[in-house]
Amino acid sequence: EDPVTIIGAGLAGCEAAWQLLNRGHSVVLYEMKPEKFSPAHRSGSLAELVCSNSLRSNVSDHAAGLLKEEMRRMDSLIMKAADETSVPAGKALAVDRHAFSRVIENRLNSFTNLTIIRKEMIEVPSEGIVIIATGPLTSDGLSHEIARLTDSSYLYFYDAISPIIEGDSIDLEKVFRASRYDSTGQGDYLNCPMEKEEYENFWRELMGAQTVPLRHFEDPKYFDGCLPIEVIASRGISTLVFGPMKPVGILNPKTGKIPYAVIQLRQENREATLFNIVGFQTKLTWPEQRRIFRKIPGLEEAEFARYGSIHRNTFINAPALLEPTLQLKKNEHIFFAGQISGVEGYIESTAMGLIAGLSASAFHRGKAFPPPPPVTAMGALVNHITSAESRNFQPMNINWGLFPALPQKLKKRERGACHALRALTSLDRWKSETLREL
Ligand code: FAD
Repeated sequence: EDPVTIIGAGLAGCEAAWQLLNRGHSVVLYEMKPEKFSPAHRSGSLAELVCSNSLRSNVSDHAAGLLKEEMRRMDSLIMKAADETSVPAGKALAVDRHAFSRVIENRLNSFTNLTIIRKEMIEVPSEGIVIIATGPLTSDGLSHEIARLTDSSYLYFYDAISPIIEGDSIDLEKVFRASRYDSTGQGDYLNCPMEKEEYENFWRELMGAQTVPLRHFEDPKYFDGCLPIEVIASRGISTLVFGPMKPVGILNPKTGKIPYAVIQLRQENREATLFNIVGFQTKLTWPEQRRIFRKIPGLEEAEFARYGSIHRNTFINAPALLEPTLQLKKNEHIFFAGQISGVEGYIESTAMGLIAGLSASAFHRGKAFPPPPPVTAMGALVNHITSAESRNFQPMNINWGLFPALPQKLKKRERGACHALRALTSLDRWKSETLREL
């Protein structure tokens, strides 16, 4: 049987390899370390955690905890290793990073049908099934190849992410619906109006806010097209009013006037459960974003599904390029997995490795692979990366806003448990129907 080639032995690549090996496939896994290191990787080990040793929440009424529980039920190697090497971290799952990598290497090395080749790949093999899992710091050589295989306008090297707010935490009494130069009182955006004094107070808060320093390999010259909000603000007290807070053409139906400044919220998903703050990409720390952006009229109680950020990140425009099976639309032999497929975070990347492994196994055997239902955390991620609107596509951590709405309205603290129950029931059903076939 032809082996499956996996490029990148990080979290996603190792998980994909494990799922394939367990189903009897042969795998050739390419890893460029220690021949070559990305600017963030330090050790020669497989599945290196490049930064924090925390995999976030471990309780399943939190979206990140649910994703972990689902992966455990799917026999995930990364979850086995994390559980076996966990260190005390309250309700989070944190690991001893060296022991974690060792467990993964040992388990993978026990398979005789796995070949690990330590080499930088700069070409994608034209024969056989290939999973690309080279992560947010994919080497330049391979990035060129991916640009060639996709369409270079669909490959990105930086995230400039605006914060995303949960729709039901927005005070609809204080905001109004309107598009610029649209007098119908409808419009696509929710608008948060500010008068002069409110605006100036907000500007002063921004000026004093704490930011996250850039990493040594992040070059601020990349940001000229999408400057952080605090950098625009630092150029003068009025610059925001001529930039992302420009009020021109936005009439407040309550006053019949154009406000001094406006913050626009753009719908992020079809279900209208998430809204992003347009043009508010930022390097402010998370607590500062929460403190300062909650001063925006209508966002006093805002819940952040994702905080804004700007960081180095290689990823593809998955909704334009991938099938729900994580196969390239233009070439069904090529799969994408991990952070490069358009998710954000350790466990999210792992989950996309798990799905790519299962999907590649099904393809190899000529079988169909229906992805997990969107009410599951894994399915919600696949759904986001393959069916979000491609024009404004941004990678996401798992969060409840990516799930279909619950059938009933519940208090916030009851929502998590309800999502989890629905997801795990659905996952078990999907697993028994789909995996029996694989
Ligand atoms: P990786 O784990 O990066 O694995 C990719 C592998 O591919 C690497 O081993 C790399 O050496 C190899 N590779 C690259 N190019 C080639 C090539 N051409 N040929 C062969 N091999 C190649 N997420 C969190 O949840 N928490 C965090 O604290 C966190 N911190 C981060 C810090 C930084 C600096 C970055 C860049 C990202 C961070 N992330 C974090 C985001 C993300 O979750 C991690 O990067 C995660 O490791 C992604 O998993 P992956 O499997 O997609 O990629």
